[in-house]
Amino acid sequence: MRPWLADLLCCPRCPGEAPLSIDAGQREGDEIASGDLVCASCGGRFPVSGGVPRFVEASQDYCGNFGFQWRHWKTIQVDRLSGHRLSETRFLHDSDWDPDWLAGKVLLDCGCGAGRFADVAAGFGARVVACDLSQAVEACRDNTALRNGLVQPVQASLFQLPLRRGAFDGVFCMGVIQHTPDPQALMRQLIPFLKPGGRLAYNFYEADFWPWLQVPKYLLRLATRHLGTEANLALSKTLVTVLYPLTRRLARIPRIRILNHVIPICTVHDDSLSPEQRRIWTLLDTFDWYSPRYEKRQHHREVAALLREAGLVDVRARPGVVTAMRAGAL
Ligand SMILES: [Zn+2]
Repeated sequence: MRPWLADLLCCPRCPGEAPLSIDAGQREGDEIASGDLVCASCGGRFPVSGGVPRFVEASQDYCGNFGFQWRHWKTIQVDRLSGHRLSETRFLHDSDWDPDWLAGKVLLDCGCGAGRFADVAAGFGARVVACDLSQAVEACRDNTALRNGLVQPVQASLFQLPLRRGAFDGVFCMGVIQHTPDPQALMRQLIPFLKPGGRLAYNFYEADFWPWLQVPKYLLRLATRHLGTEANLALSKTLVTVLYPLTRRLARIPRIRILNHVIPICTVHDDSLSPEQRRIWTLLDTFDWYSPRYEKRQHHREVAALLREAGLVDVRARPGVVTAMRAGAL
């Protein structure tokens, strides 16, 4: 655990942001590899292991699929480790944040997965607390280890973050909201972590007409969302093996390319990836379609209204993306 995280942590159980003291076990330089974080107020003890503070109870784990997913396909979406810029492009496009603005900022990454966006933000000089409920935090820690201590993974529920309110220059939640049990509650929940003048960026599956084309996917999901990891992996592998060559052919024919939306795999045809990377990314995204327990789409205008209602300003919405700011100045 990086020393700078200590000032941002507080007890997730106690009201009033009770401080946590460190009962260090093993140190590596100025970092804590293992030990406990202790709340003097309620007596709660929260372990630190592998350099990651953990605030997760077994009953909260509805997302073991993501823990598997991001450890199994650990580096493919991390630009620096896989030789592309797809995560950087998406991060800057969806957040509308300028690379110059990011330098020196303290950010909260809500649902970090393997750390693809945390790694990008750290590359621009931001310090990132990267939170995830699942064991994806292990992948995030390994993937961002060479970012000069700028990324700190924390395993915690986004609905009960052990962090101080008003402490972050920027909060982002990308590719996550639709996979939580209550997307609207989550979107409200994250706002108080912004400093006055802090910026917020959410992206999500848009509640648009595409699902109507994706009937085969949603019929399969009626069953797959209840299946275990192994079964979903086997299904995704079979579907991709059988259907991927067909989607490659369809992608080259503009007039019938739209048929790719009916075929129940999530194809990735980006030319900046190698053929093998495209196949792996397609398998990953197909697994990501079928394995999550929740997929709750949001409409960008409703998300914008929710943020305005919560007092945010400069709210900008487009399909799948909403950004906003907390009133005040940084
Ligand atoms: Zn406490």
